[in-house]
Formats: sequence, structure tokens, C-alpha cells
Amino acid sequence: MNKLNLKIEIDENSGFCFGVTNAINKAEEVLDHNHELYCLGELVHNEEEIARLQKKGLKIIHNYELKNIKNTKVLFRAHGEPPESYKLAEKNNNNIIDASCPTILKIQKLIKEAFQNNENIYIYGKHNHPEIIGLTGQVDNKAIVFEDINELKLRTLPEKLTLFSQTTKDINSFYEIVDFLKQNGIDVKVQNTICRKVYRRQKDLKDFAESHDKIILVAGKNSSNGKVLYNECKKINPDSYFISSVQQINKQWFKKNESIGICGATSTPMWLMKEVEKSLKSL
Ligand code: SF4
Repeated sequence: MNKLNLKIEIDENSGFCFGVTNAINKAEEVLDHNHELYCLGELVHNEEEIARLQKKGLKIIHNYELKNIKNTKVLFRAHGEPPESYKLAEKNNNNIIDASCPTILKIQKLIKEAFQNNENIYIYGKHNHPEIIGLTGQVDNKAIVFEDINELKLRTLPEKLTLFSQTTKDINSFYEIVDFLKQNGIDVKVQNTICRKVYRRQKDLKDFAESHDKIILVAGKNSSNGKVLYNECKKINPDSYFISSVQQINKQWFKKNESIGICGATSTPMWLMKEVEKSLKSL
């Protein structure tokens, strides 16, 4: 019997983006035949989905381990890789399964062009995030990465710079930075490289968060997009909770007859959101 009688809706726009779907499909195609595939870094920032793929034979390796992988298949995930990873994998006679997201490949091309034009490249993004490592690798690491505007010392900035963004950053924060720099007399060439899918989801999620008593955002603890979307939900609906697995659901959060919205990041599998739904229905 449904004792709390919760009314539950899963956000239909949540779930894997096309970049992640493509990477997982590529991995499964290989695993269906090979039962072993090395993947450079977490294929998707979701512990539950990783565990599912590991059961099928996916082996996650760190970048420093790539030099030891020889004569096999190595998958490069959606985040993209710097040129060094390609060189190293090829040198060791590996077959690269390249699942870099087409959107990220386009951004890598853009940043390379900016570098060739001698532009001063700045990237609003997370230090050491794999996507950022992939981007800075295109320009011999000659880009300044910052997560917070306070990391930049205004007086040391060039008169003119080109500003890129990590694909999963919050669009409002990005344009606040643009405005701040312009107000301080800096000529900013704006390269809004926030993924449209991420941006649209952020926008749509506001309506979703508003239309429910409580929101459960399901995402891996390393998901940048999950954090951005959670903050967005929390602004609209203070009764929003972040969970990574069904076990983290706390019955005390809910009251009888409430309406609950379940949503996720671009790295959250639909099956996991359905499990959360099932668990809430049993409360
Ligand atoms: S969030 Fe956007 S850029 Fe990142 S993998 Fe998904 S589709 Fe590609």
C-alpha cells in the first residue's frame, strides 16, 4: 500500500544527453563481443551506471595508467582528450574507440583557432576537469582556467581576451563574468561554449521544480552538470534534495499526498530515476 500516497513525476527531459548516449552505445557495442574494454576515466559521472558497465567488462583506467595499456581497445569518453592521449594510445598499438562528443570536438577546434590567432585564451571551468584538460591540451596548455572570477587579478589581465566556458557551466554566471570584465575595460571576445542541451535543460527545469512540492535530483557526486541543475532547483524550490542512489532516500523528507518531481543530470540514466520512483511509491 502507498502509505504516503506521493504523486510522482519523472522529468521527461532528464536523462543522458546525446554525447553520453553515444559513448555508452559505443562501449556496449564493443563489450557485447569483446567482454573487455578499457576506458580512459569514468565513462559517465554516475557510479550506478559505471557499476552496470563494469559488470559487462568495462575497465576504467586513470590517465597515468594509459602508458601500460598495449595492443587492445581503449575508449575515449565524451569529455574529449588532449592530443597526448591519442599519441600515447597509438604508440602502444591500441585501437582507439573515440566517443568524444561532437560538440566538444567543435569547441576544441574553436580554441585551437583562437590559439593560432594569438588570442589570449581564458576558460571559465573547473580546474583539472577532464573536459578542461582536453581543451587546454589543444593549445599547449597556454590557456588560463578559472572557476571563480576572484581567481583573476584584474590588473594582470590583458586588454583583450577570448573567453570560453566549460560546457556544463551555469549560463548566468558566465555572462556575469563577461559583464564584469567589460565593465573593467577589458575587450572580451565571447565564446559561449555552454552546451545547448545543458542550457535548455537548466531553463526547462525551473518550471518543473516549481510545479512540485519536493524535488529529487539524481546525479553522480562527480557530475558538474548535476551540481548546476541542483542549485537551479534549489533556487526555485528550497525543498530539493540531491541523491546519487536509491539508498540515500530519507522517508522523513516527505509528507502525505505531496507531489514529487524526479529529475537528473545529462549523466543520469533513466533506469536509475525509475528505481527512485519505484522506491518512493513504496513509502
Ligand atoms: S553535455 Fe553536451 S557537450 Fe557534454 S557530452 Fe552531453 S551533449 Fe556533449
